[in-house]
Amino acid sequence: MSKEEQTELRSVMDSVMSLCKRRGFVYAGSEIYGGLANTWDYGPYGAQLKRNILNLWWKTFIEDRDDMLGLDSAILMNPRVWEASGHVANFADPLMDCKSCNERVRGDKLLEEHLKTTIAGLSNDEIYNKVMDEKIPCPKCKKLNWTQPRAFNLMFKTYQGVLEDTAAQIYLRPETAQGIFVNFKNILDSMRVRLPFGVGQYGKSFRNEITPGNFIFRTREFEQMEIEYFVRPEQAESVFKQWVEDSMNFFTALGIKKDKMRVRNHGKEELSHYSTMTVDIEYEFPFGWGELQGIAYRGSFDLDQHTKFSGEKLQYRDPETNEVFVPHTVEPAWGLTRTVLTVLVDAFEEEALEDGETRNVMHFDPKIAPVQVAVFPLQKQQSEKAEALYKTLKPHFRCEYDESGAIGKRYRRQDEIGTPFCVTYDFQSDEDGAVTVRERDSMKQERVKIEVLAEFLKAKL
Ligand code: ATP
Repeated sequence: MSKEEQTELRSVMDSVMSLCKRRGFVYAGSEIYGGLANTWDYGPYGAQLKRNILNLWWKTFIEDRDDMLGLDSAILMNPRVWEASGHVANFADPLMDCKSCNERVRGDKLLEEHLKTTIAGLSNDEIYNKVMDEKIPCPKCKKLNWTQPRAFNLMFKTYQGVLEDTAAQIYLRPETAQGIFVNFKNILDSMRVRLPFGVGQYGKSFRNEITPGNFIFRTREFEQMEIEYFVRPEQAESVFKQWVEDSMNFFTALGIKKDKMRVRNHGKEELSHYSTMTVDIEYEFPFGWGELQGIAYRGSFDLDQHTKFSGEKLQYRDPETNEVFVPHTVEPAWGLTRTVLTVLVDAFEEEALEDGETRNVMHFDPKIAPVQVAVFPLQKQQSEKAEALYKTLKPHFRCEYDESGAIGKRYRRQDEIGTPFCVTYDFQSDEDGAVTVRERDSMKQERVKIEVLAEFLKAKL
């Protein structure tokens, strides 16, 4: 990629971030106190967009399917859960310090950025040796003066109760998935389920990332949407393939461009010790390809581990054959907040118009647009009628009413927040019982009778 192309892509990121702040999608966290590094708050439109994506996910994968159940487990869990899952021992990144300026980096990411390829499975010593062989300097002070990497556990620790001693130490969950495994028996005992079936949940996860950044791409507090899909071992391969397909379909249903996504197979050295098949669905962000979702075949690792650590047998009895066995798991794991970023970046366009002007447009799919229909009076005189019309539409669509400033400015504002349709009540409306409907992407306008307006919009949204 040329330097110019890189600068252009950077500026897309800057434009999206600035639009997010200006238009109420994402604000810097605790801003009036000078902020807290890499924390972000979702403003009214951002919160709505996030919820719309989540709702579509829940509907697609939980509500609309007969083989899926939903769950909402606690963020705080017995610390033994994280011993069983391997997070206490293994959930660590190689932390390297620059001895000259104290800059901290993730050794593996430093190497990946330099080599422009994904690396995995390297020991800390191997990472150090490669960094030194390649003479990769500190990105801040440009000196080559690194410490050996140290394993840094990413789990946030906290204390439950009044005593801050080790007995009271617990963790904020680093993923939502374990909540599903520990409820496996509860679900079997309380619900009528038959293999194959899946359990999905969404919620906050926390990782004390060494190098958070790229806006909301990598944060320490984020949201995930995860599914554990339980199968007979012999079903795993075909189920895995189906999940890759279903996941891609979900992203395209969100309106994300197909040609900006790819499915990347993990190489042998990249696979976790329990997984024999893993793919990442990646998106080409302005800062490079990044993981949107991971799909992993985890065998019976998690149920076995929790059986071992809890003493509870996490098994399935086939109701017909009475065969008892430990199901295998396929895990599709999405980042919700990362999907929000993807949708924002993918939908954004700085469009050059014929009159020499430019406009910022968010080409959101109407299903997930925070506002679907904006209603305006052309002039203040039509306010009352326009507002009455707005009230009739509000029960059916996510609507907004705006009468401030010039009409052109109101259109631009709605383009920036990605509203697919603007409806204007003008001086003719009283006579012809019709309004002007303007479509966001084409900017085409047409007259639509008020009596059929809701039907007209419903068909388009
Ligand atoms: P990465 O390699 O980017 O650190 P990961 O492979 O550790 O991610 P998983 O454990 O597979 O991620 O988590 C599933 C999904 O959760 C990821 O695909 C991503 O979308 C999201 N995710 C993970 N870590 C973060 C984070 N720090 N901030 C935002 N989203 C995250």
